[in-house]
Amino acid sequence: MKIQTKAVHAGDRKRHCKAIPVTTPIYTASSYVYEDVATLDKVFGREVEGDSYSRYENPTNRALEEQLLALEGGAAALATASGMSAMQFALLGALLDRRKRVVSASALYGATIRMLQSLFEPMGIETTWVDICDLPAVEKALAEKKPGCVVMETISNPLLRVGAVDRIAEMTKAAGAALVVDNTFATPVMIRPLEFGANFVVHSVTKYLAGHGDVLGGAVIADAEHSEQLRAMSRTAGPVLGPFESYLTMRGIKTFPLRFERQCANARRIAEWLAAQPGVAKVYFPADPGHPDAGVIARLFPQGVYGAMISFEIKGAGKEQVFAFMDKLQLVVRATSLGDVHSMVLYPAMSSHRDISPKQRERVGIRDNLVRLSVGIEDTEDIIADLAAALEK
Ligand SMILES: *Cc1c(COP(=O)(O)O)cnc(C)c1O
Repeated sequence: MKIQTKAVHAGDRKRHCKAIPVTTPIYTASSYVYEDVATLDKVFGREVEGDSYSRYENPTNRALEEQLLALEGGAAALATASGMSAMQFALLGALLDRRKRVVSASALYGATIRMLQSLFEPMGIETTWVDICDLPAVEKALAEKKPGCVVMETISNPLLRVGAVDRIAEMTKAAGAALVVDNTFATPVMIRPLEFGANFVVHSVTKYLAGHGDVLGGAVIADAEHSEQLRAMSRTAGPVLGPFESYLTMRGIKTFPLRFERQCANARRIAEWLAAQPGVAKVYFPADPGHPDAGVIARLFPQGVYGAMISFEIKGAGKEQVFAFMDKLQLVVRATSLGDVHSMVLYPAMSSHRDISPKQRERVGIRDNLVRLSVGIEDTEDIIADLAAALEK
């Protein structure tokens, strides 16, 4: 054989030795061979289990999907290239054989709002926006609009409202619609929406699950009723995550419960501290006994676990003063995203709610002095010292 041929084939397609790798390797192969074509034919025909092409299934992705299923419950998981891709697929899966109409929580991740408005609406799929914490309003929207799908987040961004997933799941089911829940902020440590009757759970695994700020990825987890549909859609449309990112996500998930426990404990302490600062006008945090959804929080979340996102208003501040506060931070990272090991701060009026007019922002309660903090795993007192120095006039 000549060097050109050897360069292409040498070293590849070795049979695995008997030993089993302790952690799942990164399988980058886009296709798979068998001893004979008859076996490949059966794999293509789904008569025997096996890999054929990476858009259909990939061993690294499959391992991650098994891990995701173990965390959220459900019947099928799909690892996707981003959280938005996961949301798009959950919505398509919910609407495929239902009425092409959506009822959605008005407080949603900005890109999800934009997707419904600029991608789904031009295709004839209209969305009705409701305050998801106002159950009579949700009931009314379901009765009037007869949607095929209801969309919500377990903890809303950035004001951290908590909708009654259990009640909404009942109402959605009774209306013949499917419920899609974005569980990115709460994570399966706090709530597993499928157990309460949701049909699809969506994650941006970019956030808490991967957790290290080095992966962009998403996940859809479907109940038994929608699992085949999700797989079939994925095989055709190909939103799949790359095996490198799958590997990193799996690696991240191994420490996710530990990280999240620490992040939640840090956040509780920091929220208490913030509430006692004269320079802070208001703190939004689910542990607050005066939280508007305190009853739902007590019913649905584990005791003492309130998540690791805090929003707060700086007294008398406008955009300029908020920027000055953010610029003074030495430890807390001024960047978009959340859930990472490092604490992060973000200005919603600049980022997630940038495209909304100041008046509209004010109406939904997002003032120009509001800051969002994603609490990391650092030492609590170090985070507090950094915030204290930056809050000083
Ligand atoms: C980040 C985020 C998304 C989008 O995820 P990407 O991985 O950035 O595509 C969706 N929903 C929520 C709640 C998020 O925080």
